[in-house]
Amino acid sequence: MITAHFPSGYVTGRAFAHSGPVLWAAMLGGFLPDLDLIWFYFIDDRAFHHHHYWVHIPAFWAVLALVTFPILKAFKPTWCRAAVAFFAAILVHMCLDSVAGGVKWLWPFSDEFFQLVTVPAAQSHWILNFVLHPVFFLEITIWATALFLWRQSRSSKTA
Ligand SMILES: [Zn+2]
Repeated sequence: MITAHFPSGYVTGRAFAHSGPVLWAAMLGGFLPDLDLIWFYFIDDRAFHHHHYWVHIPAFWAVLALVTFPILKAFKPTWCRAAVAFFAAILVHMCLDSVAGGVKWLWPFSDEFFQLVTVPAAQSHWILNFVLHPVFFLEITIWATALFLWRQSRSSKTA
């Protein structure tokens, strides 16, 4: 997934709320794992595929969720809905990255990457490989869905 994580967070968030902190939590969860690209480009100088980093490991988020929810339930129960939206968006991010990018769903039991589609390196640049592959239609669909939902919410506010 190249461009559609942020709108996928919005689409995920709309399943929980139409606006406010719950929606923003989902939008944050939608793109947060890809902030590892900063480390990937500026620290590791692209030495490893960024899906090796812990923010792209589902087990990391599962453990974080298992720690977070009891704490929130005890001290900030009103934040639980936002946390659910956030972790749901993280899960959607991992699923979308599994379409063509590969995710270590079974780590720590296996280091194998799981992906549905292998995009062949047929073009001069890796971005062109994805943009010209049918899998990019999924990104366009996510953007279209997010824009539709956003316009729908704006028109319902003005009506
Ligand atoms: Zn990602």
